[in-house]
Amino acid sequence: MARKTVVCRFQKPNKKKLEAVEREYRNTQKYLQGEDDVDLYSATKQQMDRRAGNEDNEQPLFIRNDSFEVVERDTDLTKYWVRVPVASVYGGVWIPIQPHTDIQSGWDIGDSMIVRKDHGFELHLVVKKEVEEQEEYDGALGVDLGLRKLATATECFCGSDTSSKTLCLGSSVENYFDKYFHLRRNCRDGYVRKRWDGKVADKTEDLCHQISRKIVDHAQENNLFIAVGDLEGIQDKDRGKRMNRKLHHFPHWKLRNYIRYKADWEGIRVVEVDEAYTSQTCSRCGEKGERNKGNFQCPECDYETDADKNASHNIGERGIGKLNASSDSEGCVTQPLV
Ligand SMILES: [Zn+2]
Repeated sequence: MARKTVVCRFQKPNKKKLEAVEREYRNTQKYLQGEDDVDLYSATKQQMDRRAGNEDNEQPLFIRNDSFEVVERDTDLTKYWVRVPVASVYGGVWIPIQPHTDIQSGWDIGDSMIVRKDHGFELHLVVKKEVEEQEEYDGALGVDLGLRKLATATECFCGSDTSSKTLCLGSSVENYFDKYFHLRRNCRDGYVRKRWDGKVADKTEDLCHQISRKIVDHAQENNLFIAVGDLEGIQDKDRGKRMNRKLHHFPHWKLRNYIRYKADWEGIRVVEVDEAYTSQTCSRCGEKGERNKGNFQCPECDYETDADKNASHNIGERGIGKLNASSDSEGCVTQPLV
């Protein structure tokens, strides 16, 4: 079963309904702080009990899948409505919502949550569906997660030794993190710092969604599976204080998870490969080369290219090797791993 979250913004619900949701939301926070006698929908109380121990931060309002429903209605305001269970109104309140994508009727609805953002409430709707994984591919999209660019993805088609197109994604991220790191260090105002942290977290979240979407779409359009490094030891290497500090902020795990989630949803295979030496090995001849800043140079065959492109090409080739080794077919990448 593949799953994903559809973010649905609340669309100007009337004041009374909004107040009912606000009250419920406030009461969940009080409940988590240890106030037992607050008025809260019973199934929601159970959901919140499972979240105990996170009292320091504001928590979303968790709603069990059998306690709410989402329906499609032909109204001027919006296509979709959610019935939010609240203790104060029998049967809950109907709120118009705007999802970022259409909600298909065949999807199962899972336990979800209502989250408060600066611009208002959002329903984070968890949806699930059965997906049949694709079995045949023309090659791999090798993805290298790095520091200069968050992700570099290179097409590796079977039976062709030259790599094709390369996507460079999130190359502005280094400057962005740098800027806030320095601002933060020189600022004593805790409130301002917290706001900046929130901004950086939002930006990171956005970037991870955009980049993973591009990678999965590109793989799908070109009939490629996705190969990613295992990220083993990415934090262990001592790269000096400055680089280590940066690594700490880089959302490699998050990004890889998002790629996996989105690929699962489309039925596209993600193969994890050993990343060791992928950045030092020449993707053209296989010899050891030199990595100098953003550039890779091979003394053996004189190949010179972008270092991340070279690494992502190697990751893609390893992915193809791994997938083929596990299948007994003769052709390229025709069988999935068992
Ligand atoms: Zn070479």
